[in-house]
Amino acid sequence: MEVVLKNLTKKFPGRDKKNPVEVIAVNDFDFTIPDGKLVGLLGPSGCGKSTTLNLISGLEKPTSGQIFFGDDDVTKLPPENRGIGLVFQNYALYPHLTVRQNILFPLQNLKGKEKLSKQVMEEKALEAARLVQIEDLMARRPSELSGGQQQRVAIARALVKMPKVLLLDEPLSNLDARLRLQTREEIRRIQNETKITTIFVTHDQEEAMSICDLMIVMKAGVVHQIGKPQDIYDDPKNLFVAKFLGTPAINVFEGEVKNGKIYIGKDGIMDAPKVQDGKVYVGIRPEGFKLAEEGALKLKLSRVEVMGRDVSIIGTKEEAQSKNVRAIISSDNLVDTRKDSVAFDLNPKKVFIFDYDTEERIRF
Ligand code: ADP
Ligand code: MG
Repeated sequence: MEVVLKNLTKKFPGRDKKNPVEVIAVNDFDFTIPDGKLVGLLGPSGCGKSTTLNLISGLEKPTSGQIFFGDDDVTKLPPENRGIGLVFQNYALYPHLTVRQNILFPLQNLKGKEKLSKQVMEEKALEAARLVQIEDLMARRPSELSGGQQQRVAIARALVKMPKVLLLDEPLSNLDARLRLQTREEIRRIQNETKITTIFVTHDQEEAMSICDLMIVMKAGVVHQIGKPQDIYDDPKNLFVAKFLGTPAINVFEGEVKNGKIYIGKDGIMDAPKVQDGKVYVGIRPEGFKLAEEGALKLKLSRVEVMGRDVSIIGTKEEAQSKNVRAIISSDNLVDTRKDSVAFDLNPKKVFIFDYDTEERIRF
């Protein structure tokens, strides 16, 4: 099911009585979530991800704008009539019910002509349990399950009615690192098998990058970029997006364009013909550096970290935004650690410049 947001806005009144400042949690969202895809809603904490999800589910009412599921305007429909499945960070299972009863619960609530026979309900519950591979745990109570198993039960419960749209709000946040990896692969597999349009909220860029077909990157209630994870990484629209994606993070420098050349301090690192003279931010991805005796960019060498396949060269530069500049090169390259400076050539595809005031990308 395609989900269309049309000029969707949600404002919350200020909570501070003396100085009520309105919060625009969702600011004029206008985009389409394509049918049958796993879509990541990504952004830092407090940027409006949960509010967006709650508007789509109907738990929150928009201040203005519309929501369509396919051709149907669902803006005024209550959550139970939207055909959605919801999963939250804190599983929210009924503690006194068994796994089986938890999964059955949404089916038992169906009324009128939607009402199902006992046998059909049991079959559907078992099918959902199989999908998340917990069919052996049906008789247990939530307290007898690990966190990962509890989250699978919550996913099965959300899937049992075969929703048109599955909404997941930071579903992996309560799991330890290993389970987080495993469960995110599971979510990818389940989405592939069911083809249910799935919206996956996370603040973790790596999580979103690794499993999503499409990502929506947002900050402070505003959508900054929508695209395939790799496309956004390779072609960020602005400095925020460039900095938010990638571990280790992109290196950012204060720089300048002069006579068609990009400078970081005295180092003229690259030609940028036709770009106006002026101050810029220069972003260089850690994998964009190549050791070169006569290289254009020089760093003061701090230390070298050898990590198997790769070597990280940590250096400093006065114009850098952060204390350390990190370059990742293949471990075949030798670095003379006795030297106090090191020079690099740069891969032009890994170098971005941004307007100093607007922080928008300048293409060259
Ligand atoms: P996220 O899920 O990305 O962390 P939220 O959608 O929960 O962010 O919140 C977005 C913004 O809206 C935050 O500034 C938050 O404080 C505010 N907010 C969320 N819910 C309410 C509410 N019920 N009343 C007032 N402000 C709210
Ligand atoms: Mg949230």
